[in-house]
Amino acid sequence: MRIHYRQALAAAVSVVALGAATPALSAGGVEWSYHGDIGPEHWGDLVDSHGDRAYPLCALGTAQSPIDIPAGAAVDARRMPLAFDYRPVPLAVKNNGHTIQVDYAPGSTMTVQGVTYDLLQFHFHAPSEHHVDGDVYPMEGHLVHGRQNGDTLELAVVGFLMTEGEANPVIQGIWEHMPAETGSVTVRGAKVSAADLLPDSREYYGYSGSLTTPPCSEDVKWHVLAEPIEVSERQIAAFEELFEMNARPPQPLNGRLVIESAARPQ
Ligand SMILES: [Zn+2]
Repeated sequence: MRIHYRQALAAAVSVVALGAATPALSAGGVEWSYHGDIGPEHWGDLVDSHGDRAYPLCALGTAQSPIDIPAGAAVDARRMPLAFDYRPVPLAVKNNGHTIQVDYAPGSTMTVQGVTYDLLQFHFHAPSEHHVDGDVYPMEGHLVHGRQNGDTLELAVVGFLMTEGEANPVIQGIWEHMPAETGSVTVRGAKVSAADLLPDSREYYGYSGSLTTPPCSEDVKWHVLAEPIEVSERQIAAFEELFEMNARPPQPLNGRLVIESAARPQ
């Protein structure tokens, strides 16, 4: 048991290290926030210690996320269902200064269009980053998946919108352990499964976009689930106590196609 656990841990650490070393995921260390002179409007202009722009894509990118998803997006005739194979993992909750993030141990995947991605982590935004036909939701979660292809970590994100309603037991389990200050905690004996965060419907809006945080790297495959999940007013308030506003505003669509997949059982 112990050996297995350590092997799993080593594998988890290597995935995290991979992410940290990959420009697609790492933000070169120049401080940014959601407010004031280092807020979203200025991310593209922030400079490093050499005077070089640290996150130029945030300003110059033409396929940025999030977006306001246009209603009436065409149903994609080809239909590209999402297939989730998420396993329960030990609960590890991190406050990285920008959000609450749950790092995911290896072994859980999402497959779309015949390509399988590993679930790396999930995290939250308030209010929602994606809008749907102009509508904003109180929160949004992002399930971040990666697939190593040579030197490139290809990213695919599944977004889920969160609306006010019944308390969500999975969220409750995470919130009870979220660090108020920057730092992380592995909760002894506690497990979490991202599968329990998914709505019943697999219908989603798909488009090609970017990371919604610096360095705003593009070529991120986005799948925003159409059916929101419910969280309670108290759960929303508890997150907002730590992160009053951690959502990048919608970015120009610039002619990108948004597809709407038809619902289909797994
Ligand atoms: Zn996010």
